[in-house]
Amino acid sequence: MLKNDMLEQWDRENFFHPSTHLAQHARGESPTRVIKTAKGSHITDRDGNQLLDAFAGLYCVNVGYGRTEIAEAIAEQAHELAYYHSYVGHGTEASITLSKMILDRAPAGMSKVYFGLGGSDANETNVKLIWYYNNILGRPEKKKIISRWRGYHGSGLVTGSLTGLELFHKKFDLPLAQVVHTEAPYYYRRPDVNMSEADYVAHLVAELEALIEREGADTIAAFIGEPVLGTGGIVPPPEGYWAAVQEVLNKHDILLVADEVVTGFGRLGSMFGSDHYGMKPDLITIAKGLTSAYAPLSGSIVGDKMWKVLEQGTDENGPIGHGWTYSAHPIGAGAGIANLKLIDELKLIENASEVGKYLNAEMKDALGDHAHVGEIRGEGMLCAVELVQDRDSRAGFDPSRKVVPAIVGEMAKAGVIARAMPQGDIIGYAPPFCLTREEADTVVAATVDAVKATL
Ligand code: PLP
Repeated sequence: MLKNDMLEQWDRENFFHPSTHLAQHARGESPTRVIKTAKGSHITDRDGNQLLDAFAGLYCVNVGYGRTEIAEAIAEQAHELAYYHSYVGHGTEASITLSKMILDRAPAGMSKVYFGLGGSDANETNVKLIWYYNNILGRPEKKKIISRWRGYHGSGLVTGSLTGLELFHKKFDLPLAQVVHTEAPYYYRRPDVNMSEADYVAHLVAELEALIEREGADTIAAFIGEPVLGTGGIVPPPEGYWAAVQEVLNKHDILLVADEVVTGFGRLGSMFGSDHYGMKPDLITIAKGLTSAYAPLSGSIVGDKMWKVLEQGTDENGPIGHGWTYSAHPIGAGAGIANLKLIDELKLIENASEVGKYLNAEMKDALGDHAHVGEIRGEGMLCAVELVQDRDSRAGFDPSRKVVPAIVGEMAKAGVIARAMPQGDIIGYAPPFCLTREEADTVVAATVDAVKATL
């Protein structure tokens, strides 16, 4: 084994970390963390420190770490056929089987799966399919995509534009002109505290209608949203939000993309967030939970309405000019099959629902009355604690105080990983679905101690 100090040196000299403060890391102000092994909900670093991972990596290791069934499926696939492409009608047993398993689980009205590698490229595919669709239909002006502030849809050029978080735009010349943003459905941060949830939904719909009116409905192709806002703060929508949005979209012939990269395959306690909230999407983005991150694989599930037009387009224009070398990679597909089987066999979605409710209820019991806790919210195996300087005004802390990073740092010292969400004073939790009640208790206790020690 290499000494940690040597690895640290190599890390600082050679490794360009994503989503990292590069200068601080180079100065040694943020540690090099080398994770060595993991099992269930726990990860272990090279020094032997064990941590309960209450964010499942980047909310992706949904079935938990160390699943030999998936590791073996990957090894078998690599031995039998490590790679073949899926262009011009080629496929592998694994990729074809997985496409059927996905469609069997998908909401009604979905037709086909296009496979990619990660959530960002899947959303990139979605935008291209939407543009192709409107070009085939002879409406080349109908191209803009509406996204929500605080939405997260990736960090490519178009997907970084769809993302509604300033950090992902700053100094990258984003968003691109084809993307327009509307208000996030964030009831705690509603413009007037006296608004009921119904009033607030009416306000959001009015904002959306005004945006469509300003831009012109004939220029707007699609609306993209996560069923529950994830990276933007783990915010479930107010009651009736999706039904109301759907009505506006239908009226203006605007497609709906449900970005289920986080919510797909069980995180909300339902197979898909679209079913959970009665959404009727034309496209669904899937990634993380498709393989529980044992191998990179994503997908765009295409609905019937779009599929018919895409097919017609190729009769007129020839093969669709969109493909990745690694589309439907057989190793990813092998991992996906084993992962979806495990989710069924171990009833992990039921556990996510039950233990997720428990985690949320215990967090509220333990911290709901704290002077600096503004809101505790969640859905399924997602939970967020939003902190405020002042409960009445809901004002946040001065960012220079770095309150949430300090709390999350304290929690890590106590052996629990939570996430400092990138915008606002929000601690995020998205544990693996196999979390036990005892582990949920540990997460809550570590949060309480860290909040009390910091504030
Ligand atoms: N969409 C959502 C909702 C996400 O949460 C993420 C990543 O967190 C993405 C897209 C981008 O996925 P990836 O990081 O795999 O490109």
